[in-house]
Parts: sequence; structure tokens; C-alpha cells
Amino acid sequence: MEHLRGKIVKALSGFYYVSSGGTVYACRARGVFRKEGVSPLVGDEVEIEVDGERGTVTAILPRRNELLRPSVANVDCLVIFASCAIPVTDPFLIDRVTALAESKRIQPILCINKTDLEPGEGLARIYSSAGLPVICTSAVTGEGIDDLWDAIRGKTVAFTGNSGVGKSAVLHDLCPELQPEVGEVSQKLGRGRHTTRHIELYSMGENTFAVDTPGFSSFDVDRMEYVPKERLQEVFPEFQPYLGRCRFQDCTHRKEPDCAVLAAVAEGKIQPTRHQSYVRLYELSSQMKPWEQK
Ligand code: GDP
Ligand code: ZN
Repeated sequence: MEHLRGKIVKALSGFYYVSSGGTVYACRARGVFRKEGVSPLVGDEVEIEVDGERGTVTAILPRRNELLRPSVANVDCLVIFASCAIPVTDPFLIDRVTALAESKRIQPILCINKTDLEPGEGLARIYSSAGLPVICTSAVTGEGIDDLWDAIRGKTVAFTGNSGVGKSAVLHDLCPELQPEVGEVSQKLGRGRHTTRHIELYSMGENTFAVDTPGFSSFDVDRMEYVPKERLQEVFPEFQPYLGRCRFQDCTHRKEPDCAVLAAVAEGKIQPTRHQSYVRLYELSSQMKPWEQK
């Protein structure tokens, strides 16, 4: 028996596949987890006891965060692909995804692709001024691919973006041999809304893992979790300097008088599109029943 520490890269049919020091061990979970009501998740850092290539998960280390769709723990950053060439990305999509990432303490990174067609300087400016790392790439010229790699190296990364922006192309440039850590990619078990898929981390080398890349759709944006309206102001980082400075303590920063956030928008310190997205998300979140907010 050997005691190791590793990361769960796949969960399937009652086995947890744990990557440790370049080897993947097929592990069962100890019964005690079920009794305690915790079940290991893909992405969990775990302690295992191994005998050959088989083992047992004996402990789950504290989780830094947990996503619901896909169900995965300890995501370090979320790369949001966008494009200013066709298909042009709706900034609201970017804002919705960054809000969710911030709420989970996942670092959002904006990757503006297809810069060979459209440089996207305006979009880059909006998000740099909102405090987001912005990387401009082109899968055609190779611009920015090294910068993107530097930003994600050693991390567990989820990727998202509207269809056609070039996620597959950039990921291929980043890591041509993107491979599942375990065996071959399993087939989709069904189609449509209730498609069941297992979640998997793909090794990109240098201790870097990509979440669920076969369909390049880590996120189903329409079914994405909502950030509760009360918390929205916290997930727009550029609002921070103004919070607590409004006339009303419970200001929602939409149309109240003497609102410090609205004043900052008027002075050009907060981008109008970002504030508009905040208002839209606030209204969407207000319409949700509490049990729908997950
Ligand atoms: P995905 O749906 O986000 O995975 O997008 P794909 O990677 O499939 O790319 C969609 C289309 O855009 C393909 O025809 C790619 O060849 C093209 N494409 C991807 N990246 C770039 C780029 O940086 N520049 C240009 N000009 N075309 C690109
Ligand atoms: Zn306010």
C-alpha cells in the first residue's frame, strides 16, 4: 500500500480516476463519504491508497470552488472566447459568464480571437478597464497563443464561448495532442436536453488540465447558474471602489438618486455596457424563484 495525493480527472461507473505523478489510478471511494453525504467530484484533490494501478480514495481535500454545470471542483480559471469578426460575440454573454466565474472565485480571462480579421481593440479596452486579463489571439497567425498558455499554465481551466469563435482552433494550437487522461473519449449517451455526459479533465501537459473539451462547450449558457441579485454588485470588480458610497445603503445601482456607481458610469469610469449588463442580470435574477437560482 502506498499513500499518494492526486486529482480526480474522471468519474465513471463507480470509479474515480485519480492522476498522480503522471499515472492514473482507478479508485473506489471509501464508504464513509456516502455516510457523510459528500461525494468526490472531478477536479477534487484527494488522498489515495494504492496497490498497483487500483486504489481507494481516503480523503478529499478542501474545495476551492464547485461548479454545478458542469459538476466540477477546483476550477482555477475560465477562458471566455470572443470574437469581433463573425460570429460577433454579444458582450452580455461575456458579462454573464464573468459574473458567474467571479461569484465562484474563478479567474475569468477574456480571449479575443480572430484578430487577423478584426483586432477587437474596443472590446479589449472595455474588459481591461473592468480589470479582466485580456488576451488577443489568432488561430491563423498564431498571435497570442503563447500568452494564453502562460496565463493558464499549471491550472485547471474551463473554456467557453459562443459557437464559431474559434475555441477548437485555439485549443488545437495550444495543445495539439489534447488527450483524455484516461482511455478514449466515451460516446454521448443520448441527445437533446437530457443528454448525460461524464465530466473529464484533459491533460494539457505541465500540470495543466482542461475541463470537458470534446464538445468545446464546458458551459451551457442558457442553463447556467444565476448569481443572486444581492451579490451581483460584488461580481463586477470595477464597481468595488464605489460600493458603500451611495445615498441609500440598500442601493441597487439601477436608477436611485446619488448612486456612486451611476455617477462613475456617467464619468466614464465604469463602461456603460458593463453597467447595462449588470442591470439586465439584476432583472433576470429578480425574476428567478429562489429554488431556480441554482
Ligand atoms: P468553435 O465553434 O468556437 O470551436 O470554432 P472553431 O474552432 O470550429 O472555428 C470556427 C471557424 O472559424 C473555423 O472555420 C475556423 O477555421 C475559423 N477560425 C478559428 N479561429 C480563427 C482565427 O483566429 N482567424 C480566422 N480567420 N479564422 C478562425
Ligand atoms: Zn448605488
